[in-house]
Amino acid sequence: MNFEQIKESDAAHIAPTYNRFSVALESGEGATLTDTAGKKYIDFTSGIGVNIFGVNDGQWKSAVIAQLNKVQHTCNLYYTEPQTRLAALLCEKSGAKKVFFGNSGAEANECAIKAARKYSFRKYGEGRYEIVTLVNGFHGRTLATLAATGQEEFHKYFGPFPGGFVYAEPEFAAVKEKISEKTCAVMMELIQGESGVHVLDENFVRQITEYCRAKDILVIVDEVQSGNGRTGYMYSYQGYGIIPDIATTAKGLGGGLPIGACLLFEKTADAFSCGDHGSTFGGNPVVCAGAVSIVERLTDDLFLEVRAKGDYLKTFLSKIKGVEEVTGKGLMIGLKLHPGVSVRAAAEKCLEKGLMVLTAHDRLRLLPPLTITKTEMNEGLKILNEVLAE
Ligand SMILES: *Cc1c(COP(=O)(O)O)cnc(C)c1O
Repeated sequence: MNFEQIKESDAAHIAPTYNRFSVALESGEGATLTDTAGKKYIDFTSGIGVNIFGVNDGQWKSAVIAQLNKVQHTCNLYYTEPQTRLAALLCEKSGAKKVFFGNSGAEANECAIKAARKYSFRKYGEGRYEIVTLVNGFHGRTLATLAATGQEEFHKYFGPFPGGFVYAEPEFAAVKEKISEKTCAVMMELIQGESGVHVLDENFVRQITEYCRAKDILVIVDEVQSGNGRTGYMYSYQGYGIIPDIATTAKGLGGGLPIGACLLFEKTADAFSCGDHGSTFGGNPVVCAGAVSIVERLTDDLFLEVRAKGDYLKTFLSKIKGVEEVTGKGLMIGLKLHPGVSVRAAAEKCLEKGLMVLTAHDRLRLLPPLTITKTEMNEGLKILNEVLAE
C-alpha cells in the first residue's frame, strides 16, 4: 500500500482516537526512520519514549527471536526463565523487592493502586483507601487511572469513575491539606511528561516522602515515561534521593513490545497474596526476554551518556530564538515556545523538514532514543532551529 491507501483504509476502519501526523513509517536504523515513500526522519520521539535503543536494535531482536524459537507464551500458572530473570534485574537496579508484570503503563498503575489499598486494608482495615495525586499528572487511560489523573479534561464523558482520588498542586502544604485519616497513598510523576515535562521540585518531593513515611502513607512513583534510563538514572526517583514504596514503569522497558511493571518495595512486597491480581499476557516470555536485553544495558556508563546528551541538547535549545523555556532531565525535554506559536504547527513543520517531535499540552516534547548519535542530534537541532526561528 502507498501512503494515501494506508491513510484511507485507516480512516475507514480505525476508531478515530488519534490525531495522526501525515506519515506512515516503515523502517529505520537507530534514531533515523524511513517512511513509505523513502523519506528519512531524525527521531526525537522514540515512539513516546519506547524505543530507547532506537529501531532495528540487534541485541533486542536476537533476544526476542531466540525466545520465539522456544515458546511464545505460557500462562502464569507455570514458571518461565525470562520472566524471573527480568524481575531479578529490575529488583537489583531499583531496590524493589517484588515485581508484578502487566502489559502497559495504565495496568502497572492499576496494580499500584490495588497494592496500596491492599497494604492499607491488611494493616488498618476498611476506609483507608484514598490516594492523593498531583495536578497535571498523567497515569493512564483506564477508568481508575483516568480518575487518578489530576486533570479536569480527562474526567469527561466516561463517568462514573472509580472514587477515592483527590488532587493537589505539587506543593507540600497543598498535598498535606488533602491528606486525611482516609489516605493510603500519594501518587506522583516526578517529571510530569504528558502535561509538558514539568520537573517536580526536589525539596517538595523529599518533604512529602518524609511526611508520608511518618504517617505510614505509601509513596507511589509513576515512572512509566521517566523510567529505564530516560532521565539519566535507572528511575528518576534515584535522582531525587528518595525510595518509594511502589514504582511503576512501562514505555521504555520492553524495547517496543508491550509490558508494564509494578515494583513493590520493602513495605508493599507482601501486600498481594495468591489470587489478588493477575494478567493473561503479563510477563510474556518473548516480551520479557527482549526486556532483559534492554535492562542489562541500562548501566551507569549509559546514564552518564544520557545526562551529557541531555545537557548538550538543552544548551543548544535554550539559545534558539522562539524558545522561551527548556525543562526536563536527561533525554526527557520540554520546550515552551513563544506565546501564540502553535506547537502542533511547529511539530508538523519539523516533520516536513525531516524531524519527528512530540507535543505535550502547550509544549514540544523531545524523547530521543538514549543511543542517538551526535550527528543525529545535530541534524535534529538544525531543523528545530530553522522551524522555531521562523
Ligand atoms: C504513557 C503513560 C502512562 C500510560 O501508559 P500506557 O502504556 O499508555 O497505558 C501512564 N503514566 C505515565 C506517566 C505515562 O507517561
